[in-house]
This record gives sequence, C-alpha cells and structure tokens, in this order.
Amino acid sequence: MNETSNKDFIWEISQTLSCNTLSAEIANGLKRVFNKFYGIDEINVIYFDERQNSFHDFADTSRIFEDKTEKKYKAVFEKLGFTLRPNFILNDKTYIIDDDFHVDNEVNLKKDENIFYFPLVQNYKCIGFIELYKKGSKSVDNASVKSFFIAAAAISAMVLNKILTNKITKIADFYKAQKNIAKILETQYEYSFLIPVIGEILDNFAKDYFAYIFMKNDAGKFEIAWPLRYDKKRIQPMIEHISTKNKVMVKDDYTAVLFPIYFENALQGAIIIDGKSRKILQEDIDFLLQLSVQTATTLDKAGVYAEIEKYATQDALTGLNNRRSLDLRIAQEVAVAKRKSLPLCVMMLDIDFFKKINDTYGHYVGDIVLKSFASIIKDEVREYDFPSRYGGEEFFIILPSTTMQEATSVANRLRERIQNTPFDISKFSNDVKELNITTSVGLAELLPEMDVKKLYVKVDKALYEAKKTGRNKVVVL
Ligand code: GH3
Ligand code: MG
Ligand code: MG
Repeated sequence: MNETSNKDFIWEISQTLSCNTLSAEIANGLKRVFNKFYGIDEINVIYFDERQNSFHDFADTSRIFEDKTEKKYKAVFEKLGFTLRPNFILNDKTYIIDDDFHVDNEVNLKKDENIFYFPLVQNYKCIGFIELYKKGSKSVDNASVKSFFIAAAAISAMVLNKILTNKITKIADFYKAQKNIAKILETQYEYSFLIPVIGEILDNFAKDYFAYIFMKNDAGKFEIAWPLRYDKKRIQPMIEHISTKNKVMVKDDYTAVLFPIYFENALQGAIIIDGKSRKILQEDIDFLLQLSVQTATTLDKAGVYAEIEKYATQDALTGLNNRRSLDLRIAQEVAVAKRKSLPLCVMMLDIDFFKKINDTYGHYVGDIVLKSFASIIKDEVREYDFPSRYGGEEFFIILPSTTMQEATSVANRLRERIQNTPFDISKFSNDVKELNITTSVGLAELLPEMDVKKLYVKVDKALYEAKKTGRNKVVVL
C-alpha cells in the first residue's frame, strides 16, 4: 500500500469520526473504511468497564460476550496496559513504538489470518482496544500498520468523547426522570394513576431494557402493576425469591435487576428491569436504583397525601363527605343544573330523638348508630348522588338530575328502610338487643330564581316541618 493511500485512509477515518453521531454508525463507518483500504474483515471497538469488571462493545454496549471472548479480551487488555509506551499487538506479539515513531520490530504478517489490537488510551491509561481481523496479509505493510496506529489514536479520542457525551446525556435523562417521578404528585395521589405514569418514565429512561412494576396486594402477594403483561418465565423466579430486605437483586449475568420499592419500613413492591439477553450496564443500575428510591418516596408521599385529602373532604366517623366538601359540591351542582336546565333536588335527614340514644346507651352506641345510618344512606343513593354528614345526626344528600317525584320516592324508601332496620346493640347493652330508630326528612327542589343559600333554607324549613308535624316522615314545602 503506498503513502498516498495511507493518507487517504487517515482522511476517510477522520471523516467517518466527525460525520456520524451514533456509536453504531461510527462503528459501521470504520468497518467500511478499514475494509476498503486494507481488506480488514472485522473491526471491534472494545472498552473495559472497571465497576462491572467486563468488556463492552462500543457499537452495542449491552452485547454479551462469551466467557471465552471475555477471557481473551482480558489477556489482551492486560498486555496492552502493561507498558506505558505506545504499543500494539499483532498475533499475540506486542510491538512497541518508539519516540521517533518507529515500530521496534519488523511487523510479521501471517499468510492466513491476522489479528491486531491497538490500545484506546486515556490519561496514559489503557481503557480498551480496537480489534482488527484480516484474512491473509495482502495490502498491509509496515507503513499501513503505522496508519492503523494513527487511526487508533483518533478513534480512541472519539470513543472517549462519545462515552463522556453518553454519560452526560444519561445524567440529564436521569434528572429529568427523577424530577418527573416527583412531579406527578402535583396532580394525583391514586396508585392506579401513579404507577403507569412512573412505569412509562422508567421505560423511557431505560430505553434499551424492559421495565416492570410489581406491587404487593392486600393478601401480601406481589402482583404485576405495570404493564399488564410480563415475561413470566424470566420474571416470576425473581419475584418469588424477592428478599424482604431492602436489597437490589442482580441476575448473575447482569441481564435482569430487581429494585425493591421499600417504604413504611416494609417491602411494598419492586421494579424489575429486564435486559432480555442483553447486559444491563452498571451505570444504568446505579441510576435505576435512585429512580426506584424516588418511586418509593413518591408512592409513600402519595399515600400520606391521599389520607390527608380524604380527611379533609370526608367525615371521619361515617366516611361520608363532610360539610366542607358538601358546600363546594352543592355550588357546582347548582351551577350545572341552572346552566343545563336540569332538575336538582336536595334532601336533609335528621335522626329522631337521637339525644335519647346517647343518654340511654352512651355516646359510643350513638356513634355506632350514626355509622350504620350512614351506610344505609350510601347503599340507597345512586353513584352520582352526593351524600354527606351535615353535622351531628343530620345528613344531606344532593340528588342531581332528579325530579321531585323521583326524590320523594328515594326519600320514602330511605325513611322506611331506616324504620325497618333494627340496629344490633347487643354487644353494648345487657337488656336491649336491638334498637329501632326513625328519621325525619325534608326535601327541596331547585327553582330558577333560587341560589344555594335559598336552597339550604328551603330544605331546612321542610325538615323542621317534618319534625313539628310528628317526625318519621318526608316533607316537601
Ligand atoms: P329530634 O327528633 O328533634 O331531632 O331530637 P334529637 O334528640 O335527635 O335532636 P337534638 O338536635 O336535640 O340532639 C342531637 C344530638 O345528637 C345531640 C348530640 O349530643 C348528638 N350528637 C351530635 N353529634 C354526635 C356524634 O358525633 N356522636 C354522638 N354519639 N352523638 C352526637
Ligand atoms: Mg338535629
Ligand atoms: Mg335529631
């Protein structure tokens, strides 16, 4: 090979390095140029990951090498790193390049097959190598080997650059994912909403792998929470051997990792990252561990917030909506009914002679009666109705899209059911086993000229009328 060709080769290599951005594209370009000029049959750019103690293919970082190849690479890597002087290996023999850029020995190419290794160097340290295969010795001489060496130095710089850029991109992606997982709490606390969103964030971060989220169900078993399907054969054994400790489990060959979702001092679920037949990089494991911790924090907080929100809108004793949420909801429902010209009725219930129950059996029994009363209300109303505890032993139900005729029949059904349901108090009283109560009900319908306040006044008057005229009845004014 003549001098001009070697120069052209270097030119094309530098073009390949500067014109492509994806690792796989660069690797393909290098392959093409090496082949075009010297008939090189194969080229691999390999670098060593100290933390995982294994080799990566620059073109495809999650490629897994056979043990035999790993062993061979290890030997090459040690040999190249042994001397600080510029060197390369050809067919197991190390050649040193001196200060005048001369190879210390005549390069001996074999007729059948030749394997070259040129080091990738960073700060005087070998971090990997370029592997070249060539059948036969045609088109390669001492001068071309020098060109290989120059090309290797350029490739080395680019590989380092690329590894660094990938690292920075990964870090940026990681912070974005972490922020997004924390941010979903701004909109929702429901696990059924949060988990798919977190799943998608993880999937997006770990693009090369598959992400699964498992959560413990009420029976204490781990169930897939996202996505709906998973590779049972690969994933099930990991789930079955999940340690109750807060520990990451890595499959021996690094093709799958389980990250526990641990909060409230217990294992609540797990994130599994499956590389299928690909290796999961150590740096990805580090990032995913932090994302799983963020996930646990988010789910933990969501539980706490949901609880707080529940008590902010729910009555603690009966579990019905509280007065505050009633006030908010009635304003909305009145506005909707007016805008859409839909009927709207409200119902107010007050337990008859409730004070007597407290006085006779104590407040604890009174509370039990209130709870049972509330569950009957919940049971009788439709999904869209809005039952609430107005205060004390008074209850209020908004009945949207309901005519007075329909509301009256709901009210009567409810009143009758209360009257006909004996409350079991045998646990709390020696002589009386069952307690019968009745309720008075006021009903009002929203009229076009009425606002929320007038509606409250009207239904209150109807209830008062029911009390005044004998109780255990439904009154419409
Ligand atoms: P009426 O038929 O006129 O409605 O008679 P009443 O005894 O039900 O009416 P009143 O309003 O005089 O009494 C309501 C009682 O409800 C008084 C109060 O002690 C009791 N009460 C209010 N809130 C609670 C509660 O959370 N638990 C219990 N056990 N009692 C409550
Ligand atoms: Mg009352
Ligand atoms: Mg009462």
